[in-house]
Amino acid sequence: MTPMPLAPGSTLGIVGGGQLGRMIALAAANYGLKVHVYAPDADSPAFDVAARTTCGAYDDAEALTRFAQSVDAVTYEFENIPRETADLLARNAALHPSADALSITQDRLSEKSFINGIGIPTAPFRQVDTPDDLARALEALGLPAVLKTRRFGYDGKGQRIIREPAEGDRNAIFAEFGGAPLILEGFVPFEREVSVVAARSADGSFAAFDLCENEHRDHILALTRVPAPGVSAETAAAAVEIARRIAEALDYVGVLAVEMFLVRDEAGERLIVNEIAPRVHNSGHWTIEGALTSQFAQHVRAVCGWPLGDPGRVGGLAVEMRNLIGAEAEGWAALLGEPGAHLHLYGKGEARPGRKMGHVTRLID
Ligand code: AMP
Repeated sequence: MTPMPLAPGSTLGIVGGGQLGRMIALAAANYGLKVHVYAPDADSPAFDVAARTTCGAYDDAEALTRFAQSVDAVTYEFENIPRETADLLARNAALHPSADALSITQDRLSEKSFINGIGIPTAPFRQVDTPDDLARALEALGLPAVLKTRRFGYDGKGQRIIREPAEGDRNAIFAEFGGAPLILEGFVPFEREVSVVAARSADGSFAAFDLCENEHRDHILALTRVPAPGVSAETAAAAVEIARRIAEALDYVGVLAVEMFLVRDEAGERLIVNEIAPRVHNSGHWTIEGALTSQFAQHVRAVCGWPLGDPGRVGGLAVEMRNLIGAEAEGWAALLGEPGAHLHLYGKGEARPGRKMGHVTRLID
């Protein structure tokens, strides 16, 4: 295995070929690295900007081994790769973040147990493997509650809210999920959703970007505002401290995002962790123009064993990042003509509804 730190000219392997992989590859190229992207789809957006590509399945042990042996370090842009794949990659190259960090965070049950285990609050939750478990969990947590698949959920897929006792029988609800292992969560009456995007390196250094506020539309991130408006400085600092403790406990190397609910009640502001993304994150896209080091450059630095960059925000009072979803990307020409709008398009062919086609960042003075 190649010793750390990597030298410019080394090859970074990226597993996953979406826009996150594409933007990691662009940042890596900026530091004189070569990138080799491994992804299952021939038209992966990251393939367009990589020196080498392998089109292969996430369980093709032979292709994955050849890929890992051809690179100096490996990272991933997507957390739904099997644990066995991560182990195989780690046997053949330095893998960051680790297979343990990946497997804890890719299952909502182990993720929430881990977070509670280090003394950080989440929504109350119960494991649900049978319709009887569901009945007991609803009894324990009350309504409303959110039923989710433990794995492979993203952008609100694989979940539903149960609001009324009369909402169909437990067997029918359970059957909707096709027998997948589930988790029931108590509903958190949040005021806003926030996230911390941060990096940790192997020597334990930690650097967090400013707290983000995230607005979703149809379960998909629509808008990120930074710094999160209406949140006290103490709460913003507490959010960063939560992310730091999580990164430390995972012995994490790379960029991670911690999504949190902000609850406001008589006692003031409280933070409840929703989930951890063991990768660069959509709510960190604003850092490309809005911070001294982008989340992608920061991730490359961490996984190459390089010093972390300054995560400080630039650009006046605030930064706003809007996703361009589906047909919204058709407005690209107008955005190019708008002074101060930074347009990013991911090179995806078909603008299907709900598909993230690009984003636009505006620095607000
Ligand atoms: P997730 O897939 O866990 O990120 O959930 C997607 C979205 O559903 C979140 O961004 C929240 O808006 C909402 N949500 C998820 N879990 C809960 C919960 N326990 N209470 C309230 N809202 C939730």
